[in-house]
Amino acid sequence: MKKIVKNLFRLTQILQFVWQSSSGWTIARIALLVEQSIMPLLWVYLQKLVIDAVAIGIAASDKEVAFKQIILIIIIGLGLTIIDTVSNSVAGLASEAQNQALIDYLQNILHAKAIEVDLEYYENSQYYDILHRTQQEAPFRPAQILNNLLQVCQNGISLLLLSGLLFSLHWSVPLILFGVTIPSIVVRYRYSQKFYHWQRQRTPTERQASYFSEILTNDQHAKEIRLFNVGHLFTRRFSTLRQQLRREKIAIFTGRTMAEILTQTSSSILVFSFYGFLAYQAVQSKLTLGDLVMYDQAFQRGQAFFRGVLSNLSGLYENNLFLSHLYEFLDLKPKIVEALDPNPVPRFTQTGIVFNHVSFQYPMSTRKALEDITLTIHPGEVVALVGENGSGKTTLIKLLCRLFDPTDGSITIDGIDLRYFEIADLRSQISVIFQDYVKYHLTAMENIWLGNIDLSPTDEKIVVAARCSGADEVITKLPQKYNTVLGKLFDQGEELSIGQWQKIALARAFLRDSQVIILDEPTSAIDSKAEEEIFQRLRQLIKGKAAILISHRLSTVKMADRIYVLSDGRISESGTHDELIQRAATYANLFKTQFKH
Ligand code: ADP
Repeated sequence: MKKIVKNLFRLTQILQFVWQSSSGWTIARIALLVEQSIMPLLWVYLQKLVIDAVAIGIAASDKEVAFKQIILIIIIGLGLTIIDTVSNSVAGLASEAQNQALIDYLQNILHAKAIEVDLEYYENSQYYDILHRTQQEAPFRPAQILNNLLQVCQNGISLLLLSGLLFSLHWSVPLILFGVTIPSIVVRYRYSQKFYHWQRQRTPTERQASYFSEILTNDQHAKEIRLFNVGHLFTRRFSTLRQQLRREKIAIFTGRTMAEILTQTSSSILVFSFYGFLAYQAVQSKLTLGDLVMYDQAFQRGQAFFRGVLSNLSGLYENNLFLSHLYEFLDLKPKIVEALDPNPVPRFTQTGIVFNHVSFQYPMSTRKALEDITLTIHPGEVVALVGENGSGKTTLIKLLCRLFDPTDGSITIDGIDLRYFEIADLRSQISVIFQDYVKYHLTAMENIWLGNIDLSPTDEKIVVAARCSGADEVITKLPQKYNTVLGKLFDQGEELSIGQWQKIALARAFLRDSQVIILDEPTSAIDSKAEEEIFQRLRQLIKGKAAILISHRLSTVKMADRIYVLSDGRISESGTHDELIQRAATYANLFKTQFKH
């Protein structure tokens, strides 16, 4: 009972989506539905009239009067045909227009939700399963549900009218009609459930197969796939997974086909019993020729409508099952919660950013990525984080941006915990370029402008930021300069080298009018001389703000005011370059090794 109520609630929610996305088309479709559901009864009755009129006409002495009657019926038939044709076409148009509006409306809802959920979800394979299922199915299912509902109503009304007509022949005829159709629907319902559960269980395998296919066809992998000659390996893995999926799918379809053969045979027996009864009645002269054709037609059409009702009901059930993915997705709640009464982020920080005994463990992980981190970043200071891969540098940045909250300890700006700021306000004060920064396949200008979309897309500051990062030099050599589309996804796109892309990403970070600039391995592909110049300019740029650098290149790190060395999630050393060299510990050893190279 609870399940039925829940399903009904979902249906009403879908109807709400439908109404919000296209109320005008909804009204038009309901009006057409009523008109189209009455039409079949009118048709069979008109057929009876014309056949009986012809039969009377053949036997009549005054042929002219009889013919006039036939002509009148034919004219009514023509009128009905025109109405039917027009309403069919308009219904098709209304359905298409409404479906498109609904799909776009739902895509917008999905996109809004995809931005709302935490980064954590993007680092969690279960979330990807939900997202994958939702993206594949959810935008189309509500349109199908609506069509199912309308079809159930339309076919239901037609069926009811025709059943009334058949009942007038004999009370058992509508029962035969139902007996012919129900078994096949039961089969369909059972197998659709089986298929749904199979699909749900197999989502990870399907995703894995898509991943292999993507590796084989994606430009990002093309180079390495060829050089390491691993294309065949992935082709084989893809084929093995697809084969397994195909085999299981075919097994379900075979079962369904066998069951369908059985139900169709029993239905045929019932149909022929009805014809036997009809013939008997006609021979007994209890029916006119017109009646015979009318009942035959009513039975045939009734079967089709009944099948329509049941198959749309089962379609409704099936679509509603799949739609649970959408609800699962829409029900995801962000774990990073907004402060109820947020403080504004200080625009000119006094004491700076403080990490106070911060520890952090990723939700799915068994060990801590950061442990007891205490550090201060003063305004105007350039701080560098150094450490081996996996030592926790990027995680520390993610906490500062509130992509995650610390498991223990606190992070403050001028003494106020980050949790008491509005998330968007906090992030607007941080400019960060991660190692895996985004390469937007947009113009060079837009690539930089996205760093601060509050500016006009042609603001002069874009060029200033580009000069700072060295991107200007790259862009001015492009065919359309700042209007050149970058990347090779679209026509006339210009691909850049990794170092050139990094300069563009840096310019994006520099454009943002923020308190803190964070650069996570931003210059790994830029040569040391250019890098030094970038950092000289960065110094001028930050004036009074703070910068955090993560770099493996110690010639860069050397320029920082304070260096923190991280090992296994803890701070093992800190100080200026000279102090750390004097300590002759980890940093000094790293520096010596790099220097030798
Ligand atoms: P670094 O930036 O110094 O290379 P990270 O901060 O990326 O190091 O990673 C620190 C530790 O956290 C590593 O052991 C890494 O495996 C783990 N880690 C990073 N991201 C995740 C994640 N999304 N889920 C679980 N563990 C993670």
